[in-house]
Amino acid sequence: MLIAIAAITVMALVFGLLLGFASIRFKVEGDPIADQIDKLLPQTQCGQCTYAGCRPYAEAIAAGEADINRCPPGGETTIQALADLLELEVKPLDDECGVEKPKTLAVIDEDRCIGCTLCIQACPVDAILGAAKQMHTVITDECTGCELCVAPCPVDCIDMVETQLNPNTWRWPDPSHIDLKLGESS
Ligand code: SF4
Ligand code: SF4
Ligand code: SF4
Repeated sequence: MLIAIAAITVMALVFGLLLGFASIRFKVEGDPIADQIDKLLPQTQCGQCTYAGCRPYAEAIAAGEADINRCPPGGETTIQALADLLELEVKPLDDECGVEKPKTLAVIDEDRCIGCTLCIQACPVDAILGAAKQMHTVITDECTGCELCVAPCPVDCIDMVETQLNPNTWRWPDPSHIDLKLGESS
């Protein structure tokens, strides 16, 4: 019995050492340039840049595979910030990705919501609260205005509502101070 316990202990130690060695030997270093670029992106995760979110787009820019003008939510402000960081020329937003629009947040008409959960599944930042067959609501502080929840709603009860933020000073993803102009949905 003692021999078995000793053998298991030795094996655990050996595996522990091997795992420790592997984690150091094969450690993947972050890309500091991609990190800095990512910090300048709006973090709406809307995919309009044609990448799977802000981080993949940041990595593509850092790798020289994507231009700096593909983010409609960030618009001119983000292009300018990226150009400054990377010492590149400012260029107009690539209209194939979309157009810069006023900043908006999603608002659900709770009386019409049928609780299908499709909007929750579509939201990339978990900004919608609800359960199957129950009314759903948007957590305003978390919503980035990506609009990805609008199309899947089968009863068309999600509106995008303009915010009163100054587009020249406002930066995603901190919408916690947003003051909604209810009734002025786009
Ligand atoms: S378009 Fe901009 S905000 Fe949307 S995922 Fe791409 S980088 Fe992020
Ligand atoms: S609630 Fe809608 S608009 Fe807001 S972040 Fe989620 S999917 Fe995007
Ligand atoms: S998709 Fe529309 S109907 Fe379905 S839960 Fe969301 S808001 Fe309600």
